[in-house]
Amino acid sequence: MCGIVGYLGTQNAYDILIKGLHRLEYRGYDSAGVALVDNNGQLNVYKTKGKVSNLEDYCKDKNINGTVGIAHTRWATHGEPSDKNAHPHYSQSKNIALIHNGIIENYLSLKTFLSSKGYVFKSDTDTEVLVQLIEYMMNEHDLPLYEAVYQALTQVTGAYAIGVIEKNNPNELITARIASPLIIGVGKDEFFLGSDASPIVEYTKDVIYPEDRQVIRIVRGKEIEIRSLDNKSLIKPEVKQIQLSLEDIEKGGFEHFMLKEIFEQPKSLSLCMNGRLQREQKEIILSGIQNYGERFAKARRILISACGTSWHAGLIGKYLFETLCRIPVDVEVASEFRYRNPVIYPDDVLIAISQSGETADTLAAMELAKKQGAFIYGICNVVGSSVARLTDSGTYTHAGPEIGVASTKAFTTQVCILAMTALAVAKQMETISTEDYKRIVTELCNIEEKIETILSKTEEVKEISKIFTYARNFLYLGRGFNYPVAMEGALKLKEISYIHAEGYPAAEMKHGPIALIDEEMPIVVVAPRYQMYNKILSNVVEVKSRKGKILAIVTEGDTDIKRLADYVIEIPQTEECLSPLLTVIPLQLLSYYIAIAKGRDVDQQRNLAKSVTVE
Ligand code: GLU
Repeated sequence: MCGIVGYLGTQNAYDILIKGLHRLEYRGYDSAGVALVDNNGQLNVYKTKGKVSNLEDYCKDKNINGTVGIAHTRWATHGEPSDKNAHPHYSQSKNIALIHNGIIENYLSLKTFLSSKGYVFKSDTDTEVLVQLIEYMMNEHDLPLYEAVYQALTQVTGAYAIGVIEKNNPNELITARIASPLIIGVGKDEFFLGSDASPIVEYTKDVIYPEDRQVIRIVRGKEIEIRSLDNKSLIKPEVKQIQLSLEDIEKGGFEHFMLKEIFEQPKSLSLCMNGRLQREQKEIILSGIQNYGERFAKARRILISACGTSWHAGLIGKYLFETLCRIPVDVEVASEFRYRNPVIYPDDVLIAISQSGETADTLAAMELAKKQGAFIYGICNVVGSSVARLTDSGTYTHAGPEIGVASTKAFTTQVCILAMTALAVAKQMETISTEDYKRIVTELCNIEEKIETILSKTEEVKEISKIFTYARNFLYLGRGFNYPVAMEGALKLKEISYIHAEGYPAAEMKHGPIALIDEEMPIVVVAPRYQMYNKILSNVVEVKSRKGKILAIVTEGDTDIKRLADYVIEIPQTEECLSPLLTVIPLQLLSYYIAIAKGRDVDQQRNLAKSVTVE
């Protein structure tokens, strides 16, 4: 959460910073700000509440000169969204400006200390403490900026990616990180900072991924200097190439990133399966399982830890691994898991799932399990992210950048990886017959085409969505593999339309939620025709008897539910264990079009941010 951008080079920094902020706006949009050292040695900070476009308006009549600068788009943790809490923050003398993504955990004690030394705070943020501490270090110990940042960081605990500039030093940009993402772009006579590669890709493909606990000094015309925060030793920068194109991060003619990403799913699943699913031979080859399959085969248990949509994918993972591999699976919300002193055995396998690979709670869960000897398998989208770095083995989803805050293609590619992993492990463990294995793999080969078929019915879903915009509550029901899909459908609706929705195992409805049903209440039933079909049919009858409005997601050709439901959306037949890859698509579209009809900002919903890098 929070996007940070920085620039030092030969071009006008402002334009690059603003463009970068727009690209990072998915990470937070409470307020935005920019700091620039102009050609006359002035350090100017401009910041406003609201989105980056507000900042642009605000800056229209301002001095925006300068070839070094930092900028920030905020997702507030400490202090309400407001002008004064927006970043960058000045130091007391206004000689230093700083941007920060993360949380300074010991900010209160530092604030007390600095207040006793006469420092006056202008904001309610934890961040301001750090910039004041840097100034204190400079003044008290007569240190240059880099040394002062270094010393200040030895005093703070928490998580951060920071960018710091100084009025008297327009040739220098300092950055550092612990637990928050940071990428440095290296161009010709210019350097870029970004929370991800999107502000950088247009200018250079050469990047450095700083590790945790590194402090970096960028000086005009010089080599980058990286030092360890622990012992100050010099670390050789390793320049890598980013695999991202500009087209990946633009809307490509769609009105919103979310819609683009929903429509991208056939392609992202192809990329996800590329080189892993051998379509001719009907085989799955996952290097992570080829090399470490034994670890799964010997596992006492699989733990899956994730948050939000990734947690829903994890719940489907439980059904997959238990059904196909007969390994017991516990699925844990990472924020609970990390703090409840869980029982973890050295022969457990922990699967961590995170789109960004930076989700703070998921990373903490991984660290905890790692300490106790479990084998860590990561599933994430962002190459080189912290999840990827912490794992013993794992698989990237290769979904391409997901920018819409509501996750869509990340979910389907995560489920796809879980399905391929479970199939590969099941084959190795011989818990699946060759016939079943080949049949499911064959279906996986057809999955993109079947998603295309569902997407071709978008107009149908759009029409149905108009009927439901009046609703204030929704109930989503599903069973078996499609119970987590019901939860995911409810989450999508909540997060982008602000309509309250709950996802329930269909039979559980009788234990409470049924009391909510009346003629006003829409019930979305995920009911493709599998072994539990008759059971779910009974649940639909129960809803009908109470006059609920039923929208059913059914297998094409199904006439039984059609007779009961008010509206139906048909999906193609597939294997039950792969059905979430299809059933979720109309639910994504439904939530998108309901939100549009209600005039919501679907790419940037209130209070949310894309990658949750704070606890
Ligand atoms: N803690 C800082 C603030 O509230 C940064 C927030 C973040 O990175 O999400 O301003």
